[in-house]
Amino acid sequence: MLQVITSISDIKNKIQTLKQNQLTIGFVPTMGALHEGHLSLVRQAKKENDQVFVSIFINPLQFGKNEDFRQYPRVFDKDCELLSSEGVDIVFNPIPAEMYPDDFCTSVIPRHLEDKLCGKSRPGHFRGVAVVVLKLFNLVKPDIAYFGQKDFQQTVVIKRIVSDLNLDVNIKILPTIRDNEGLALSSRNAYLNETEKKDALCLYSSLVKAQSMVNAGIKKAEEILLEMEKVINNCKTARIDYISIVNPETLAAVPRVRKGDVVALAVRIGKTRLIDNVIL
Ligand code: AMP
Repeated sequence: MLQVITSISDIKNKIQTLKQNQLTIGFVPTMGALHEGHLSLVRQAKKENDQVFVSIFINPLQFGKNEDFRQYPRVFDKDCELLSSEGVDIVFNPIPAEMYPDDFCTSVIPRHLEDKLCGKSRPGHFRGVAVVVLKLFNLVKPDIAYFGQKDFQQTVVIKRIVSDLNLDVNIKILPTIRDNEGLALSSRNAYLNETEKKDALCLYSSLVKAQSMVNAGIKKAEEILLEMEKVINNCKTARIDYISIVNPETLAAVPRVRKGDVVALAVRIGKTRLIDNVIL
């Protein structure tokens, strides 16, 4: 039976009992409005752990002033039904004041990583991600935590924090789940109208273009990025925020593509900012 926990004291008690019984914990942090992308992480966690925890917490610290914190879809009951049918044990759903009391003042700053890619147009976002993930790890004490490749920069930041701060958690990154046409599933896809949904396919088409150029032996990043831009600029409602080919650990832009580099992009479709990436 799915148990909903909202307080920090209850989650601590629960974890203490599980640890005393030497049960392993798999953890999937989310902001809710769950889809098959989230569920792919949950299913893997189920396979590999005795107990599966999912957090649903729309973290105010990772939203900028003019971003969509207020509009972000909130469908907690439906999410719980999905998690229940997947056999999840615990959903942790604190309110912001539980996570950030008035006197909260600590930050975690992923220097050198936070000012690149998405960080440029979302200042402070990765500090918000870093602090919430560190808090959640301290509370849930997972053996394994699961994240999606979809949020590539986030995976890099989290792996860095785990390494820099010597956290005892194994991080697993799972592939991006897409719809039949290639659009990466995202809770924010709910903002798109029918025309925008079609236009949003240009993100994936441009990534496919990049991959096929690399497969054909083209290595010059500039050349690939130019072709990707053309694909996206063909779409009326699309506005490029960034496209970059980067080293998968430092996030530094590379002049020539090597195996394992990541091509990542953010594009506004109408008012909705979407991200995607592939490992080349
Ligand atoms: P979010 O609720 O957007 O914060 O996402 C929670 C987790 O689900 C993160 O680790 C995301 O990377 C992952 N996720 C979101 N969308 C997808 C997707 N389409 N495929 C795989 N993982 C995803």
